[in-house]
Amino acid sequence: MARVFNFSAGPAVLPEPVLTRAAEEMLDWHGSGMSVMEMSHRGKEFIAIHAQAEADLRELLAIPGNYKVLFLQGGAAAQFAIVPMNLLRGKKAADYVHTGYWSKKAITEARRYCQVNIAASAEDARFTYAPKQDKWKLDQGAAYVHITSNETIDGVEFHWIPDTGRVPLVADASSHILSRPLDVSRFGLIYAGAQKNIGPAGLTIVIVREDLTGEAAPYTPSVFDYKVQAEADSMINTPPTYAVYVAGLVFQWLKSLGGLARMEEINIAKARLVYDYLDQTEFYHSPVAKEDRSRMNIPFRLRSGELDSEFLKQAASQGLTQLKGHRAVGGMRASIYNAMPVEGVKALVDFMREFERTHG
Ligand SMILES: *Cc1c(COP(=O)(O)O)cnc(C)c1O
Repeated sequence: MARVFNFSAGPAVLPEPVLTRAAEEMLDWHGSGMSVMEMSHRGKEFIAIHAQAEADLRELLAIPGNYKVLFLQGGAAAQFAIVPMNLLRGKKAADYVHTGYWSKKAITEARRYCQVNIAASAEDARFTYAPKQDKWKLDQGAAYVHITSNETIDGVEFHWIPDTGRVPLVADASSHILSRPLDVSRFGLIYAGAQKNIGPAGLTIVIVREDLTGEAAPYTPSVFDYKVQAEADSMINTPPTYAVYVAGLVFQWLKSLGGLARMEEINIAKARLVYDYLDQTEFYHSPVAKEDRSRMNIPFRLRSGELDSEFLKQAASQGLTQLKGHRAVGGMRASIYNAMPVEGVKALVDFMREFERTHG
């Protein structure tokens, strides 16, 4: 068996111990005589799996007691609509910070439900930075302020938490949740699709301050009403059971590593390996402002785009896959989520150095 180093932006690499454990438990989970996929979501086995996953996530992120944790479906893209449905609470407008491809999607969808005020935008520099808070124009009457705290395609990450006063801060943290400790109490709501840094596709995690729930617009589907789902432990209908189980194994893996503070140290070290190299060569180029560079998604360009396909071909032949940048920005992108081992990052940098030596 030959596993590659998979730099996909998502669905993405999972920790090998998690995959091995899932494989071991595939036919018979803990003496139940069945796989988790085959269990009733109302049975005691799955209820225990679900409760443990939530407890471990709460521990990892130190989620305060007045926040609900929801395990939903629909992906982060569904939250682009579900957030305004739930959080407008009679108000007419919301503030959005426009930082790239995913914030644009969130803004476009929110416009179907409310007036969107662009509080700040990085479009003037092709989304290569996170606008500083002193440049933001916040509306005190806004229902909430929305940020995309890590732009997966543009490679821009907020390394600070904005202060939005009494207006709740909402973050799409899909591609960097669990990569570092986070002060959840500074947010009204955090959401993330699982397939970047948590687990399999099909699960969407929402962490929401309880007092913001209970006033969903009347047209909100019940499965997307935070209050209804919170009261039913995210089980008003069948949850994505297998995805919840694998996410739970990932949470246990993170705890066994030493939690998110340790994970952050590792992520800083991995990202530094790539950026330090990018910064000392003329052959490659990182477009993102240094202080806003993502630790998870690293877009870069070869000085000569004519070498792109050769670069990708040779990388793949050495087991370094999915390095092609998103079609919206071109170039290359290395996604180095929690589960990417440091050996994979070292192999990438070694390959890039060798490719420069032979083609520079
Ligand atoms: C991938 C991604 C999405 C979309 O996620 P889906 O689960 O496909 O809906 C939204 N926001 C960010 C930041 C992402 O990285």
